[in-house]
Amino acid sequence: MGGYGSGRKAHKTKTGDMRSLDVNKMHRSGVFEVGRMGGWQWTQDGEKVASIGYVMEERGLRLRYTSDSYWHGKEDINYVVPILRRPCHHGGTRPYFLCPGVVNGRRCGRTVAKLYGGRYFLCRHCHNLAYYSQSEEPRDRLLRKANKKRVALGGEPGTDEWLPERPKGMWHRTYEREIEAIEQAERLADAHFMAWMMRRFGTPDIYSIL
Ligand SMILES: [Zn+2]
Repeated sequence: MGGYGSGRKAHKTKTGDMRSLDVNKMHRSGVFEVGRMGGWQWTQDGEKVASIGYVMEERGLRLRYTSDSYWHGKEDINYVVPILRRPCHHGGTRPYFLCPGVVNGRRCGRTVAKLYGGRYFLCRHCHNLAYYSQSEEPRDRLLRKANKKRVALGGEPGTDEWLPERPKGMWHRTYEREIEAIEQAERLADAHFMAWMMRRFGTPDIYSIL
């Protein structure tokens, strides 16, 4: 294991709102090579709006950042998100996050492709998103649309799942367009969720209200 503890300064930035970590994107960027360290950032209109530091260790991805939430103020956060690998259809393996959430003393332990930030990066179940999905809002329509496309491409429904691989015989262009449509619908759904959180609780950070 290399990297961690070598004295380099971790990237630290406010992550007071709902940023998400996508295992697919991080995997493509080579984040899950043991010993790798760096910063993961979010941009808006080409400008950096938040970032966290990470170190890939043997047992998982260590995240380091400063959280600044309404109720808890500024805190240095440092914990490991275990990374699991599961075999995929076309050979090889895919990484998944093991949700590090602990709710009412019980470990969540769900394997997911996406974690959502607040004070901590956790799966949508831990963020209690299920409650919201019961209501008939634009977000549900967007997710239904995305799920339909995911299933049509041979994948599983749900933003916690990996995007399906290109089906044999499908044009690359068509595939790219479908993937873009799925990602756009899911991004919009996330935006609707954050807007709902703002309306209901006055903050997009669920950990400031728990
Ligand atoms: Zn969870």
